[in-house]
Amino acid sequence: MRVLGIETSCDETGVAVYDQNEGLLINKIYSQSLLHSHYGGVVPELAARDHTLRIIPLIVSALRETGLTSSDINGIAYTAGPGLIGSLLVGSAVACALAYAWNIPIIDIHHMEAHLLAPMLNQKNISFDSGFYSNCTDVIKFPFIALLVSGGHTQLVMVKKIGEYKILGESIDDAVGEVFDKIAVLLGLQYPGGAALSVMARNGIKGRYIFPKPMIHKPGLNFSFSGLKTAVSRVILSLKTNDNQVKADIACGFECAAIETLTIKCYRALKQTQIKNLVISGGVSANLVLRSYLSNMLESMQGTLLYPPKLEFCTDNGAMVACAGLIRLKSGLAHTNLSILVKPRWSLESLPKVEI
Ligand code: ATP
Ligand code: MG
Ligand code: FE
Repeated sequence: MRVLGIETSCDETGVAVYDQNEGLLINKIYSQSLLHSHYGGVVPELAARDHTLRIIPLIVSALRETGLTSSDINGIAYTAGPGLIGSLLVGSAVACALAYAWNIPIIDIHHMEAHLLAPMLNQKNISFDSGFYSNCTDVIKFPFIALLVSGGHTQLVMVKKIGEYKILGESIDDAVGEVFDKIAVLLGLQYPGGAALSVMARNGIKGRYIFPKPMIHKPGLNFSFSGLKTAVSRVILSLKTNDNQVKADIACGFECAAIETLTIKCYRALKQTQIKNLVISGGVSANLVLRSYLSNMLESMQGTLLYPPKLEFCTDNGAMVACAGLIRLKSGLAHTNLSILVKPRWSLESLPKVEI
């Protein structure tokens, strides 16, 4: 069985083919970041228009490079939500048109479930029959806790099994990745600057700037990052400095506050549920400070930390959509209703159950 995955929820056009036995055959991505960098953030209308230009050539080159033809594909998985409506519509329309032309079913994919499955992308012969979740190196049992940290989401999720999710906590305002990007712009870095901010922070002196860790003294597992964003912005705007050391010190102070907050909430979620294993995914899971804080914390609890096997699988990509598609195709959740329907808002908790 082979699935073509299409990702167009935000500003990356992603196309991939995932094979049941061979694993990932190809993963192609076109990032619009340069297009949006002039504006310091994603411009939805421009994003949708650019997807329409990129998507077909990406699919054609993915098939050409793998030597596959339409008859080698058993289903088309596309991101149906959540995301920007114009961007989602492009992926949905292309998936429906190809499914009609090739006479194969489509599979609606939840973008955050796809992120959640990204740690499995190195696997061949993917199987959940044994009830385990694995990134090749480590194998963990269900249930586990997932921290989904991206440009639009900050969520702590209890994963009872694939397809059965309970949201334990989430951000009541800005997502952590979004705040990394906004602070990065103020520090003079190009959008999306989360990764560059983290590099800048490496030269910073810890403790020169100490920012409040949001909501750690309140009970519960929700997050709030807008206060931290305001506190850091105020310092940057009042100093108006071009001194690279000062900028690095601020970046370091901000990163520490954000990462320590995420770590404290993960610890709380694990303790509260008496679960030992944690999976992180989404763009911010590429952050090395986050990985090191969490793996230290889990070591002391004799738990395991899993994250995507390559940095390119942390941020948006077609591979994770194709992989999620294969799982849902195998469990009978593909369909032939080709009405173009997208869900800009869609809760992980309301997904159709996966029977494997
Ligand atoms: P969502 O998945 O919620 O719809 P999105 O798809 O835009 O949002 P992703 O592509 O998963 O988000 O992740 C992008 C985000 O990850 C950006 O905000 C980016 O700055 C952030 N990011 C990437 N690398 C790092 C890093 N090393 N440190 C911190 N943030 C990072
Ligand atoms: Mg993006
Ligand atoms: Fe994403």
